[in-house]
Order: sequence, then C-alpha cells, then structure tokens
Amino acid sequence: MKVTVDEDICCGAGTCVMSAPDVFDQRDEDGVVILLDPAPAAELHDAVREAASMCPARAIAVSEEE
Ligand code: SF4
Repeated sequence: MKVTVDEDICCGAGTCVMSAPDVFDQRDEDGVVILLDPAPAAELHDAVREAASMCPARAIAVSEEE
C-alpha cells in the first residue's frame, strides 16, 4: 500500500489522525495533515482506508500496489 496526501486541499479536519494516528499527524500551526508513513504495515491498512474514506476533503489517496 502507498499513501499520498494533498496538503493543498486538506482542510485540517483531523479525522485521519483519529483513524490512523500511526500514519497521519497534523501540523501544530494550521492542522494540515502530515504523512508520517507513506508505506504503512499491513495491520494498518484497514485504518488507512477508513481514514481516506472519511476525509471530508478527499485529500488522502491510497494505492493498493506495493
Ligand atoms: S481528514 Fe483529510 S482534511 Fe482532515 S486532516 Fe486528514 S487529510 Fe486533512
């Protein structure tokens, strides 16, 4: 799995951080997403997919290729 985020469209809602705190964080200044782990381990994949589906800005892209 490969994860990318689009910081330009992230609205800082933070639902990704709640779903997958090992993969996403937020900048202290403005809440914009920080991608901690662009290639998360298998046990995190469900949480990452949930984060991507719940992101209100659709700022998280998930590719299933390794
Ligand atoms: S859920 Fe989406 S909009 Fe909210 S902080 Fe994460 S990437 Fe940004």
